[in-house]
Amino acid sequence: MIKSLRKKWIYITLITTVLIVFTRITPVKAAANGQLKVHFIDVGDADCILIQQGNKSMLIDAGNNLDEDVIKKYLLNLGIDRFDIIVGTHVDEDHIGSMDAIINDFEIDKIYMPQSDTTTKYLEDVMEAVRKKGLQVTAPVSEEVFNLGEAVCTILAPVSMGYEKLNNYSIVIKLQYGNTSFLFTGDAESVSEREMMRRGFDLSADVLKLGHHGSISSTSDEFLDRVNPQYAVIMLGRNNNYRHPHKRIMEKLKVKKIKVYRTDEKGTVVAESDGEKIIFNKEPGSYNYGK
Ligand SMILES: [Zn+2]
Repeated sequence: MIKSLRKKWIYITLITTVLIVFTRITPVKAAANGQLKVHFIDVGDADCILIQQGNKSMLIDAGNNLDEDVIKKYLLNLGIDRFDIIVGTHVDEDHIGSMDAIINDFEIDKIYMPQSDTTTKYLEDVMEAVRKKGLQVTAPVSEEVFNLGEAVCTILAPVSMGYEKLNNYSIVIKLQYGNTSFLFTGDAESVSEREMMRRGFDLSADVLKLGHHGSISSTSDEFLDRVNPQYAVIMLGRNNNYRHPHKRIMEKLKVKKIKVYRTDEKGTVVAESDGEKIIFNKEPGSYNYGK
């Protein structure tokens, strides 16, 4: 009797061990499964943000022209072969440089890009890829709301047209997931920030992706007060030639005790939300500024 009981226990222990080992070696699934994952992919002096909720995926910007391989490798490692939505915030190379490659190689449902009078070589490449795939570009409309799984996205900017600088055409999106929120600003400068504030939009967000790589042209005092984030993410290259991030921006963040995550110091940064709290996969970075 005791002998057979012991045998049973040995079997149970053996099966449990096999199960634990199997779970540990099984690769992580692409789907975020009830979580929101925001990947700030390190592409140097450029933006590229992957957002996953459930089995839905969105890409905001696609780095410089030479970042194609880095971005594709990152996406394929996660098992991503399609996007529900891609957003080219504006037509500068460091935002849509590799977007033609993404459109060529991935299945895409919807593309948002702002209308502007100016064209660039990179925009022409993107438009060619769009034509080849038989897709259409949707122009952003301020206050338009769309879903990404259970996340709710609101397009805030551009509010108007006829901007002097291409940066101000940047599509700004606020994403709400449960009680947590993110604000993605592209390279929107203080002109666009003022417009959003004048419209009385609810700009408050837990995470602010700083506009224009931490440049002084963006993140004005009043805008930062209105967003009032706990965390700031800055996408920029190591020892870049633009002296990003700007001294005054970093001082503001430090005074307000906003935790900073920067791709020049930490590489790719991933934020994960369960709808109540946000956890980053890296420790916060420094308040050092570009020199
Ligand atoms: Zn930029």
